[in-house]
Amino acid sequence: MVQVIDGKAKAVSVTEAVRVAAETLEKTAGVKPGLAVIIVGDDPASHAYVGSKSRMAKQCGFNSVQHTLPLETGQAELEALVASLNDDPSIHGILVQLPLPKHLDSEPVIQMIQPEKDVDGLSVVNAGKLATGDLASGLISCTPAGAMLLVKDINGEDLSGLNAVVIGRSNLFGKPMGQLLLNANATVTMAHSRTKDLAAVCRNADILVAAVGRPQMVKADWVKAGATVIDVGINRIDAPEKGEGKTRLVGDVAFEEASQVAGAITPVPGGVGPMTIAMLMANTVITAYRKCGKTAPTF
Ligand code: NAP
Repeated sequence: MVQVIDGKAKAVSVTEAVRVAAETLEKTAGVKPGLAVIIVGDDPASHAYVGSKSRMAKQCGFNSVQHTLPLETGQAELEALVASLNDDPSIHGILVQLPLPKHLDSEPVIQMIQPEKDVDGLSVVNAGKLATGDLASGLISCTPAGAMLLVKDINGEDLSGLNAVVIGRSNLFGKPMGQLLLNANATVTMAHSRTKDLAAVCRNADILVAAVGRPQMVKADWVKAGATVIDVGINRIDAPEKGEGKTRLVGDVAFEEASQVAGAITPVPGGVGPMTIAMLMANTVITAYRKCGKTAPTF
């Protein structure tokens, strides 16, 4: 019988641990973790994400600051805001909501965030620390960090002897996920659009992670019996069964059929998705502890 991994419940337990850690820091050091989120323009999906992040930060007892900038904001203006937040001692984490509007270049903005405040874990310093196995002083990108917690709940802390396949090699997800699995001693294969016979590669995986952006691409016969399947994809598809013009969210894995073969599987929605915001909160409280010279909690 397959275990459907409850990402929502895990996210609730992580955010509760973050809330307690934040409360302890405030009591013992008089410091409230501060998270600044910057959003430019009026993309509704980005506003929905930012709204959830700000609400969750407040629930965790953080000083939550949202900077909503108009679409016509220029590169220099955006960079000036990041510079001022870098200098602000009450802010421990800075997140720039991506994607930015087309006239703005996100890369220099991300790279100018102080690595210690880069709670999205996207700076080259934090990516480099992860790549060199330094998990103690860097910050790990939120979605892979969350996906990894789900893997560890199923397969344990030490993945020695297990084969892991990650489909997708983006800087945002695939590469850091591969590094985390490798750090936990899995034997890792990174697959991508040029991989030959992807189905056969996947069938070798004890842990199969799909982060592609192609609805229901991973079929049952790609999945090894008993494997842990982590579906990172978020795809909106037509759902005529719900009525005309209706849509629904699906992952990169054909959930129903893959569930017949897998040992454990994340649903979409309700799997990896909720973990991303929870890990953003975790990274913020970690940076606040480090700034105070205290040993940061682990999640
Ligand atoms: P991305 O930057 O577009 O990368 C997609 C990767 O998939 C690329 O490495 C690409 O290979 C590979 N790929 C594309 N078509 C393929 C195929 N037919 N066979 C094998 N590999 C293929 O996407 P991303 O940012 O990593 O995101 C991936 C998915 O995860 C999206 O659905 C996104 O919405 C979702 N996501 C969810 C969260 C969350 O919070 N839950 C967070 C981040 C992303 P090449 O490199 O060869 O082009």
